[in-house]
Amino acid sequence: MDTSANTDFTVRLTALVGELERQSFPHGALYVVATPIGNMGDISLRALKTLSLCNVIACEDTRMTGQLLARLNIDKPLLSAHQHNEREVAEKIIHRLQEGERIALVSDAGTPAISDPGARIVDAVISAGLRVIPIAGASAAVAALSASGLTADQFHFVGFLPARDKQREAILDSLKNSAATLVFYEAPHRIAETIAAMVRVFEPSRQIVIARELSKVFEQIHRCPLSEVTSWLSSDPNHQRGEFVILIEAAAAKDDDGLDDAIRVLDILLEECSVSQAAALTSRITGVKKNQLYEIALARTSRST
Ligand code: SAM
Repeated sequence: MDTSANTDFTVRLTALVGELERQSFPHGALYVVATPIGNMGDISLRALKTLSLCNVIACEDTRMTGQLLARLNIDKPLLSAHQHNEREVAEKIIHRLQEGERIALVSDAGTPAISDPGARIVDAVISAGLRVIPIAGASAAVAALSASGLTADQFHFVGFLPARDKQREAILDSLKNSAATLVFYEAPHRIAETIAAMVRVFEPSRQIVIARELSKVFEQIHRCPLSEVTSWLSSDPNHQRGEFVILIEAAAAKDDDGLDDAIRVLDILLEECSVSQAAALTSRITGVKKNQLYEIALARTSRST
């Protein structure tokens, strides 16, 4: 950035900080604060302000959050809130909120409660009639979707798949006809086997997007048909390093309302029955309209005579 652009940026930032000074950060509320997923530049001004104002920060890992706070030059007491003690911590948090404290909840990176601890605490705070305020920011799933070019009108966030082959494949199988873009998280030591399972289950022509190291120096977003992903993955050892979001294109919409299956049944019955009987029986079996099946049956029998 040249000097004048730098000055402009500082002026804008100062104006925004001034605006933030006029906003209220109520007492007695739990602030669910998103933190960067790699690039510190993604911390929001509201997150900075909240972390500076709060009385205590409930966090997944005090060491990780300690490092984040050191970089932000913020010194606050920490309360360890991981997946094994969420219930007990929730009670402490509720008590402190009732005393009028502001409490921030963070995870190691990204948005708390998204494949991270936090949901139980939030649930308990809501049930106690207290206020929860989201401080929106980075989340790997949304970042990957936004830069994937896949439609996100509907997306199904799956998160991490089970480690066991059978369970993993069963879940993938149950999702293979979903009309939503599928979103998965994966760690580097499992990326190869997870992708191999996806290649086994999904149509080879479907697009897969591998978004690794988002917002970091070695960020990479690779998109290809599933038929090509195995060779891409093994073409460079770096392709299996880092943190991953995997997206699978939504299944192609079937616009036949079960007609393909109905026609298969119809063809079998036509070998044994008259056109009207075959149409009537197929309609009872498949739910497709009898008139529509009758027309199709007529066309098929006239073609084969
Ligand atoms: N709560 C976080 C969020 O909002 O994205 C996710 C936490 S989950 C425990 C961590 C997983 O998120 C990683 O294993 C990876 O799948 C994904 N992830 C986190 N940071 C990422 C990044 N910079 N690039 C790609 N994936 C990332």
